Amino acid sequence: MKAHDGMYIDGAWRPAAGPDVIEVVNPVDEQVIGRVPAGTAEDVDAAVRAARTALPAWSATSPTERAARLTALRDVLVARKDEIAETVTAELGSPLPFSQNVHVGMPIMVAGSYAELAATHAFEEKVGNSTVYQEPVGVVGAITPWNYPLHQVVAKVAPALAAGCTVVLKPAEDTPLTAQLFAEAVHEAGVPAGVFNLVTGLGPVAGQELAAHQGVDLVSFTGSTAVGRQIGATAGAAVKKVALELGGKSANVILPSADLARAVNVGVANVMSNSGQTCSAWTRMLVHREQYEEALELAAAAAAKYGDRIGPVVNAKQQARVRGYIEKGIEEGARLIAGGPGSPRERGYFVRPTVFADVSPDMTIAQEEIFGPVLSVLRYEDEDDALRIANGTVYGLAGAVWAGDDAEAAAFARRLETGQVDINGGRFNPLAPFGGYKQSGVGRELGAHGLAEYLQTKSLQFQER
Ligand code: NAD
Repeated sequence: MKAHDGMYIDGAWRPAAGPDVIEVVNPVDEQVIGRVPAGTAEDVDAAVRAARTALPAWSATSPTERAARLTALRDVLVARKDEIAETVTAELGSPLPFSQNVHVGMPIMVAGSYAELAATHAFEEKVGNSTVYQEPVGVVGAITPWNYPLHQVVAKVAPALAAGCTVVLKPAEDTPLTAQLFAEAVHEAGVPAGVFNLVTGLGPVAGQELAAHQGVDLVSFTGSTAVGRQIGATAGAAVKKVALELGGKSANVILPSADLARAVNVGVANVMSNSGQTCSAWTRMLVHREQYEEALELAAAAAAKYGDRIGPVVNAKQQARVRGYIEKGIEEGARLIAGGPGSPRERGYFVRPTVFADVSPDMTIAQEEIFGPVLSVLRYEDEDDALRIANGTVYGLAGAVWAGDDAEAAAFARRLETGQVDINGGRFNPLAPFGGYKQSGVGRELGAHGLAEYLQTKSLQFQER
């Protein structure tokens, strides 16, 4: 795999300050496929300085010019789609069609949406005798996880550039090669030097330095709640703006009037997708007690269809973590109806598609984010019970409600403490805000709400005439 041995800073690939490297491993066969530099405080500082220097000119460009750069970026991603998808597959292990359609297809949509928003957004409005301006927040430190290596990057960088901010990106250590290709794409799109900068490295070193750097005005982080809490504290101490996209334990609520087979099949597919490594995955399926046994049969059959066809999880640590949760589920008395902790293959970080029945709301597997292909099916007595179970975790990122008609499902969804709910299988909308209630995060990504995170407002009051 192609790998740069430097950092993309101020429009060029520059040697890293230190000698350390990170090995990138293919989770399917455990082979090293590339090495990237492990950034230090010095690299982060150089990148932040470049971003600060580039800020005045970039923030003064017209929204039309920024829209043109984002359109160009989208076009480069389209032109290099296959190469990027192959890289995602190599470092994340996801099947190639999924990489093409989702891992690259979704960010292409998102980049396109921000090209349009940059061109059409009202950055200025009249309110009484005031003119209110929406101005860029400044230098953004973006820290991203490995689960959607390109999407997580584009969901931060595209709105930041649309707003007129400059960016330093610290991508996940497991998937830096996709981030390097993204930096190439930004360069090819003609984004001026210093507007986007890339520092690869370890979270507790490069990530922490970036979050704490005095030259960063906003830290936008996606990843675990544990690290998010730390970043929030660091940013709070410096009175720096912060956006956090954290974990989830989303509920898929199937009301008695729903098409049960469809709701269960789509629900299982949702959890197994990307090997369960999706923060918004519907990892708790809630079924009325009278339909419970039928739902279990459907869920077990749906999970069995996947066999060993899903990709691995990202690394050995994650594999051990997910298996640990499966063992914990068995230990706490949940009933395994598909999969289990055993390894489906000799090599690679694979985990069996797993479904648990007889899960009670207080069990560890019903409370904590597993981030693997593991579904818990819970029984409820009535709607109030379903609501109490659905809202009974510290998280509130996403969810689904199924019912005989959309109005019934929507009425229930309005009572959920969560940021995004799919009604009867409503499809992903790149313009709709994405983000969490409760400990799932602070702030929103995507669409106009995502753009707003990178803007701050100034009002000028004029004399009444
Ligand atoms: P993580 O939170 O450790 O890593 C996410 C990003 O933060 C990476 O770029 C990492 O290098 C960086 N980072 C780590 N420590 C840091 C620090 N102290 N300061 C600044 N940056 C730091 O996540 P992980 O270890 O890759 O995954 C662990 C768990 O997190 C998963 O099992 C899952 O539950 C959750 N997770 C959630 C999401 C999500 O989209 N919400 C994504 C990935 C992981």
